[in-house]
Amino acid sequence: KTATPLLEVNNIEVIYNHVILVLKGVSLKVPDGGITALLGGNGAGKTTTLKAISNLLKSERGEVTKGSILYRGERVQDLDPSALVKRGVIQVMEGRHCFEHLTVEENLLTGAYTRRESGAKIAEDLEMVYAYFPRLKERRKSQAGYTSGGEQQMCAIGRALMSRPETILLDEPSMGLAPQLVEEIFGIVKSLNENEGVSFLLAEQNTNVALRFAHYGYILESGRVVMDGPAAALRENPDVKEFYLGMS
Ligand code: ATP
Repeated sequence: KTATPLLEVNNIEVIYNHVILVLKGVSLKVPDGGITALLGGNGAGKTTTLKAISNLLKSERGEVTKGSILYRGERVQDLDPSALVKRGVIQVMEGRHCFEHLTVEENLLTGAYTRRESGAKIAEDLEMVYAYFPRLKERRKSQAGYTSGGEQQMCAIGRALMSRPETILLDEPSMGLAPQLVEEIFGIVKSLNENEGVSFLLAEQNTNVALRFAHYGYILESGRVVMDGPAAALRENPDVKEFYLGMS
């Protein structure tokens, strides 16, 4: 672990359509080799934060108007998303976004498009993805649009892995999935973190599961970080228990 965090967001402000202030000074750090959770309810600004980092706000008429975003100490907010992928940062969007007319395997291969390595190296990584997601191997020839929600989430993560990322920004991986599948996906995230050294920043409304798998968490409310701390401490915090962990 290095002293400089992998990713550092310093006091960013995001405005949509020139007038709607959505992030009101968000700061966070993602350490090398960690799983960091970005928590908060609907509309708190989690997706906006991830999109600000991966520079995907433009198409939504959003703009970072203040603050800075550093990756390995270098300013990255003027890079386009594909340049960021080459640096090792990739976002898995909420809602999964597989190419539904392509097969699972074709979807995975599209993830390698920024790479220059040989076909053999890419085939090796495809096997690595299948080792983590045996279900994807079973479904490799199926059209992605006909696979289940859980399989599509796996396909989206698998496709991101095919770019050989250092950091994955994972938006709401639990969304719409049965609890057992959520556990399965978080378990895979954990083993990718431990065995492949991939760092994660994951946005989640499911505080309970996120704080069981993450090392550190930030809680967003109305575009501001209202609390942060090691996951174990947040799990024991009375306010977190009352407002975010509920009965679960
Ligand atoms: P969710 O889990 O619902 O995605 P979130 O925490 O990720 O919630 P964001 O999607 O970042 O929240 O949205 C934060 C706020 O920004 C919301 O009030 C939302 O209505 C607003 N917002 C999001 N996208 C746009 C946009 N393109 N134009 C204007 N306002 C937007």
